[in-house]
Amino acid sequence: MVVHQTTCCYCGVGCGIVVRQEPNGRLTVEGDKEHPSNRGMLCSKGMNLHYTVMDQSDRLLYPQMRLGRSMPLQRVSWDAALERTAAVFKTFIQKYGPDSVAFYVSGQCLTEEYYLVNKLIKGFIGSNNIDTNSRLCMSSAVVGYKLSLGEDSVPVCYDDIEEADVFYVQGANPAWCHPILWRRIEAHKTANPHVKIICVDPRRTDTARSSDLHLPIRPGTDIVLNNAIGRLLIENGFVHSDFILDHTDGFAAYREQVMQRTVDEAADLCGIDAEAIQQAAAWIGRSNGFLSLWTMGLNQSVVGVNKNLSLINLHLITGKIGKPGNGPFSLTGQPNAMGGREVGGLANSLPAHREVTNAAHRAEVEAFWQGPVNIAPKPGLTATEMFDALANDQSGDASLKAIWIINTNPMVSMPDANAVEKALKTARFVVVQDVSNRADTVSFADVVLPAAAWLEKEGTMTNAERRISYLPKILDAPGEALPDAEIIWRFAQKMGFGESFNYANASDVYQEYTRLTAGTNVDVTGVSYELLKKYRTIQWPFPEGAQGNGAGTKRLFTDHRFYTANGRAQIHAVPDGNASEPTDEDFPLVLTTGRIRDQWHTMTKTGRVAKLGQHSPEPLLQIHPADASPRGIREGQLVVVQGRRGEVRVKAQLTEDVRPGLCFLPMHWGKVLNNNQVRANNLTSSLVDPRSKEPDFKFTAVEVKPY
Ligand code: SF4
Repeated sequence: MVVHQTTCCYCGVGCGIVVRQEPNGRLTVEGDKEHPSNRGMLCSKGMNLHYTVMDQSDRLLYPQMRLGRSMPLQRVSWDAALERTAAVFKTFIQKYGPDSVAFYVSGQCLTEEYYLVNKLIKGFIGSNNIDTNSRLCMSSAVVGYKLSLGEDSVPVCYDDIEEADVFYVQGANPAWCHPILWRRIEAHKTANPHVKIICVDPRRTDTARSSDLHLPIRPGTDIVLNNAIGRLLIENGFVHSDFILDHTDGFAAYREQVMQRTVDEAADLCGIDAEAIQQAAAWIGRSNGFLSLWTMGLNQSVVGVNKNLSLINLHLITGKIGKPGNGPFSLTGQPNAMGGREVGGLANSLPAHREVTNAAHRAEVEAFWQGPVNIAPKPGLTATEMFDALANDQSGDASLKAIWIINTNPMVSMPDANAVEKALKTARFVVVQDVSNRADTVSFADVVLPAAAWLEKEGTMTNAERRISYLPKILDAPGEALPDAEIIWRFAQKMGFGESFNYANASDVYQEYTRLTAGTNVDVTGVSYELLKKYRTIQWPFPEGAQGNGAGTKRLFTDHRFYTANGRAQIHAVPDGNASEPTDEDFPLVLTTGRIRDQWHTMTKTGRVAKLGQHSPEPLLQIHPADASPRGIREGQLVVVQGRRGEVRVKAQLTEDVRPGLCFLPMHWGKVLNNNQVRANNLTSSLVDPRSKEPDFKFTAVEVKPY
């Protein structure tokens, strides 16, 4: 039996996994007791990962292409597929300019893959039209961190859990979505009963159920709540005056802003008791360790950046940051969302947290990449903008003509999915690079490129606490599938950039990336595959010559110097309004979407494991009995959920776990199930936060009727 250590490829917790390979090829998995992120534990998804590897029935095995959408896809050689793609890309670029092509990539990609696609399009093609599906989940947190702390840098680590005595969980359900982290928090609370957990969520989730205080606020009122807590912290003397004076800017404007609304007014707007807000503020104010955790409830909002800032403010005014047990902690959804951000995977960024709009940053990267490199100064199209641009393409203009989609399934995951489907249908050239033929985009592809899956390629990922893990290649990919990095460097060679994309293996790519981080706040020049193999994981930054046993940097800002130009954190006075689409007589209910316990994203992996389907075999619309009754809706009845852009047909689940006026639908299912349209994103709007460009998934006006 051969034993390997690797990392789970689902969520941003980044659990270590031991894979055992029997002589007959059979695989088993278990949690890695040596891994600091999970200490041997795995959740239901991780425990069943081997089934997704052993079942190859849906794998894409060979490159395929067709000359017209009405023709069937046909097997071709790698050379034929990449040469045709290169010819089409070159034609569009020559005729319409570099912004006529785009890449849409994924938080599932390894750091090396992310880095190479960025280098190719931003450096050598000369367009910033690359965005990652992290745009849909983390970009509001990215902008929030940048505006307040100076850079997209998560300041805390998992070990802070055992140092904290108040957890403020807002817009997140870690009990289901980050289960191993949540178990660690629960274990800490069991051992220390004085520890308090506050959960802010309009739904009574499992996280809310095991909290000491649940604040079931109205959707869209998070900022009202956080500002009210800020006001109470000021009024009750819980602010840290020396910290504010020595290490922050902006407090006076913040105080003025939060004093504009009384706590009673805030409670009224949030739809909760003022006493509950006072209790939360008192626990936070008196805490020795205040850890806030959040995900999509704050990020996926048309005011997502303001929501993030309003939460980070609570740490800055109390000085509860940069010391054990304290700090704002955005939980990442995908396994390598953070790695993608490090290498510049968003349309506005460059490797090592540089910006495309910064001339000095562009010059540094251009000099490093060498060759015919010319980085455009304008941010590229973001995720939603790409599909809008495809839809608006008029032949002859300089709009988007070609899109290359890597390891993500936008026809299910993007907001207003009907519009995305239409855009892909009419797009002039679509390349789909994926592992599975279950990706809905395959049916719109002109070229399909089969990618190697988890265990079939080597590389690195960074989890939610800045922890870089090495993933070894354990199995050969089936058919002619290739590692994503190799597909990109082979394509770059076909485009004529061979000299700058001449890699022998993934380690070469990683070493090149690390050199580009030298002297930055995300310096990982001390990290190599050799060191990662020796120490298993390292937390960045870890510059060359860094001392210690390879553990890296646990916490940031311990000296209270931030990454802003003057070294001081910025407290932002944020208005508390929401700008989501309004409800009205026709669409009086608010729909929020989210995950269920045992499924992952668009179910291309977890949907194949029968065991994982048992928890929730089909999507159900959660609706409060007070909303169901006047509509004549009974438990289990088929209902139509109608919105301004589309509808779905699912069974109703009557529950007081959602507030009256709110309903909830899981986001995992694709277009059709049992002849019913069930795709939640038929309903969601493509409104985005103006700064982060993250969509407003959590607030859609709908009506629900019996079918
Ligand atoms: Fe994988 Fe996340 Fe579950 Fe850990 S918590 S086993 S990383 S899905």
